[in-house]
Amino acid sequence: MTSLVWFQRDLRLSDHAPLMHALKRNQKMVFAYLHDPAQTIGEANNAWLAQSLIELQKTLRLKGGELLMLEGDFSENFDQLLRHYQIDEVLYHYEVGEPFLSQQNLVLQICQQYQIRLQPFDQAWYPAEQVLTQKGQNYSVFTPFYKKLLTLLNQVAYPLEAPKDLKPSNPEKSPLTTWLDLPSSLHKIRQTPWAKRMISHWQVGENQAWSRVKSFCDGSLNNYPTQRDYPAEPATSKLSVHLQFGELSTRELLHHLQHLKRLPDYDTHAIDSLIRQLAWREFGRYLLHFNPLLERESFQSKFVNFPWDDDEDNLLDWQQGQTGVPIIDAGMRELWQTGWMHNRVRMLVASWLTKNANLSWREGQAWFANTLIDADPANNAMGWQWVAGCGVDAAPYYRLFNPVVQSERFDPQAEYIKHWLPELKLIPAKWVHAPWQHQNKILSLGFDLIKIYPIPKIDLARSRHDHLDRVQAQKTYTQALQLQN
Ligand SMILES: Cc1cc2nc3c(=O)[nH]c(=O)nc-3n(C[C@H](O)[C@H](O)[C@H](O)COP(=O)(O)OP(=O)(O)OC[C@H]3O[C@@H](n4cnc5c(N)ncnc54)[C@H](O)[C@@H]3O)c2cc1C
Repeated sequence: MTSLVWFQRDLRLSDHAPLMHALKRNQKMVFAYLHDPAQTIGEANNAWLAQSLIELQKTLRLKGGELLMLEGDFSENFDQLLRHYQIDEVLYHYEVGEPFLSQQNLVLQICQQYQIRLQPFDQAWYPAEQVLTQKGQNYSVFTPFYKKLLTLLNQVAYPLEAPKDLKPSNPEKSPLTTWLDLPSSLHKIRQTPWAKRMISHWQVGENQAWSRVKSFCDGSLNNYPTQRDYPAEPATSKLSVHLQFGELSTRELLHHLQHLKRLPDYDTHAIDSLIRQLAWREFGRYLLHFNPLLERESFQSKFVNFPWDDDEDNLLDWQQGQTGVPIIDAGMRELWQTGWMHNRVRMLVASWLTKNANLSWREGQAWFANTLIDADPANNAMGWQWVAGCGVDAAPYYRLFNPVVQSERFDPQAEYIKHWLPELKLIPAKWVHAPWQHQNKILSLGFDLIKIYPIPKIDLARSRHDHLDRVQAQKTYTQALQLQN
């Protein structure tokens, strides 16, 4: 009996149910990752993927295993792998979103064709089908979902220990030599200067993920509730990318946090606050599980044909951090350089794009998918729809952030702005949030603003009103259509 343990976004050995399942039954095992360059999330994500696969390979080899990495057309490779090793069963962790759903469907078809047993495992804290309202329906608003989840937390499965050693994958049949190397397209990305620079901000892999958990918990965790909205503070965990790649099991992380609550040095309120954010992640996956179209379509019907603008220049200014609104530009430059952006700033840049520039949330989602290392189909779609006001939990009027007010509130000394926009370093903090309003004062210090930094093309107040008018018009139109039908 030979089992294939198929890795997707679960690049770890600890709390790995498919792996432990195969191991427990003392079967021959093949470990594989299939990389189809035509079906990836984005380039920054691929840069992390390359390094994470290398780390997983090292860990597997230390324990006597071997990760096979197949590159090319997904179906062809999967088919070839099954036949090469005469696989009897395929074990994997179920993933939501694309390209995972399509690939999982292909695997189902191929396994049915060869009559191979297929067993998916869940990674959620609690199975989505069992987190339901009293009427047996699934939730579409976070707070009631979260309250329900809290009642189930003590039933979340205990994490499985990482195996001590692994038998050689399949001694009777050696793999094709190309399967032992990092896929060439990932190798190429890894060598590019942008990827090298970006990855230099991070430490990749399961061991590093746990080091990060420990340093965060022993360092900033107790300040998390009060500091987490301040982008200049190193106050958030920066675990999103480890979670996205499954270098960290969310269940294991949850159990770890629950354990810390029982120790005297840790503030339980702070831990609960972190657990609440992690529950947002659970919610994103839960939503996409029940509504796979959320990645592509607005959840609210009135936004389906919303009159978004189509202005390439505004999009480019936003992507390049050249809008003239410092908090927006700082965020977009942080993203470009490190592959990550602080959550508060993600909300602000998303609000500027959709509500001031009036560009579709799909444009922002696509840019984030390509540039975020933690780009995640579920969180990305949920985040964009949440800010754009077209998703579940909708409240368009309340999520129209004024970036200047937000900047003054959450970056009062402009430390974050000045870090990412060094051209504004010498301008006093009180003028940096909206420098175009203080041009003369800035000139009196000897700096001609126009020469160092763009003046915004979009008027924040006017564009805000324009957007709200469009929302209202669209709402009226949709209501009229509904009445007609
Ligand atoms: C427009 C937009 C797009 C986003 N795109 C992504 C994305 O592609 N991938 C991604 O992982 N997150 C995304 N987020 C959510 C959030 O910004 C990041 O998870 C968070 O900034 C990661 O930093 P951290 O690990 O330090 O978070 P922490 O504050 O330390 O939170 C701990 C963990 O909780 C989860 N979490 C925290 N906030 C959220 C949230 N609002 N929604 C869902 N999960 C959350 C993350 O897994 C995070 O690692 C997006 C948010 C917005 C507004």
